[in-house]
Amino acid sequence: MNNAPGKSAGGRVILFLGPPGVGKGTVATRIAAGDGFDYVSSGDLLRENVRAKNAIGREASGYMEAGQLVPDELVTRMALERLDRTGGQIILDGFPRTLAQARALHEYLAARGRELLVIDLEAPDEFLRERLANRIICRGCGRIYHRLNLPPRRADICDDCDGALYQREDDRPEVIMERLAVYHRQSSPVRDYFLARGAVHTIDGTGPLEKSLAAARAIIAAGGNP
Ligand code: AMP
Repeated sequence: MNNAPGKSAGGRVILFLGPPGVGKGTVATRIAAGDGFDYVSSGDLLRENVRAKNAIGREASGYMEAGQLVPDELVTRMALERLDRTGGQIILDGFPRTLAQARALHEYLAARGRELLVIDLEAPDEFLRERLANRIICRGCGRIYHRLNLPPRRADICDDCDGALYQREDDRPEVIMERLAVYHRQSSPVRDYFLARGAVHTIDGTGPLEKSLAAARAIIAAGGNP
């Protein structure tokens, strides 16, 4: 990962925003793997804590199963502690999701002189419902597939690590509806918050993965300058 000497202080933080199912995780992990950036997903961090059955996991699991947001204080502490451990360039996925989290992150970065770049993937709800209902994920390495558009070579087995593929509990249709409603209510203001600070670059998330990837890479390479 990106902990090379000389890059250890004040590395840039790249945020991926956008509704559940828009492809944030897929685009962000591919860029991180290809370009050697560190990558953090707040959802992955929370699921690790749930699996470990520790205090954070026990507090978070009920909210997660219901498709609701975990309390700001808990997620913010967890995400900022993780950022503290990475001084180099890092991609953040899934955090911040509320205005309070956005403010906390903004203050944290400003205090450390770390630059922020925000990439916002957009797609209509109907498109997202279909995509999430068909999403399957590798238990071993976290690679994301779509049953119809991005299927594994062998049914229910990961192409990369032979891990078993599964559907997330919260990718069931009734939970998907709740997650999209929560996004519109609580997370759209995050985009507006960063828009007002001039750091947001929007990408159409309905096209093929390669197109979103190329667009995100171009924005990152340009250093966020249009
Ligand atoms: P994700 O994997 O990003 O879709 O997140 C899965 C679930 O974890 C969400 O539905 C929330 O319950 C919780 N979660 C992840 N990130 C956050 C966050 N920044 N704030 C609050 N809850 C979160």
